[in-house]
Amino acid sequence: SLGQNVIVIVPGANLLLNFEDLKRASDVICKAKVVVCQLEITPAVSLEALKMARASGVKTLFNPAPALADLDPQFYSYSDIFCCNETEAEILTGIPVGNLEDAEKVGRMLLERGCKLVIVTLGAEGCMMISVEEPIPKHVPAGKVRAVDTTGAGDSFVGALAFYLAYYPKLAMEEMIRKSNCVASVSVQASGTQSSYPYRKDLPQDLF
Ligand code: ADP
Repeated sequence: SLGQNVIVIVPGANLLLNFEDLKRASDVICKAKVVVCQLEITPAVSLEALKMARASGVKTLFNPAPALADLDPQFYSYSDIFCCNETEAEILTGIPVGNLEDAEKVGRMLLERGCKLVIVTLGAEGCMMISVEEPIPKHVPAGKVRAVDTTGAGDSFVGALAFYLAYYPKLAMEEMIRKSNCVASVSVQASGTQSSYPYRKDLPQDLF
């Protein structure tokens, strides 16, 4: 279907991950620089992980994927960074996101729900960021590339952002997002979801 992805989710073992497992990992979580959560495991377990991180002053990055219409509102207040794509944005807010303006509306709404910083990824258009500190929305464009397979682009973006937050915490948020766009845009240029760095040797070195 012309570069658009179709995803089947089989949660299987993911849904077996429970509060006991979380407790066992608490040492790692509380000493981390960043904790990333999604909705691939039981939402209540994800939320508890965010709470554990927050209680230890660990930065929390939340990606509400796969989207859930009745997301527990605590997810907003326990997310330092709330990063969603257009589909997730629509499911959470009821606002269909077709352009930057729509994304800005979503961003404002999610800030009101308690997030500190909201990023809405916009595929080839890059993303929109808005935060409590900088409430004027910013468009951070992605470079023009020939997209072959966008499966996993969002994961690639979130993973890259976590990397910059952990290893380059002093970078300005806009710069981290620009670099994350760049990493994600590499991932769409080959088929599959494993095509991003460190496997690629031809990446711009200023990503590091
Ligand atoms: P998802 O994979 O969750 O649907 P998006 O499609 O919004 O997420 O893509 C996530 C990020 O991947 C974008 O913010 C952008 O950085 C990058 N990206 C996705 N599609 C393209 C594209 N066609 N060209 C360049 N970058 C892209």
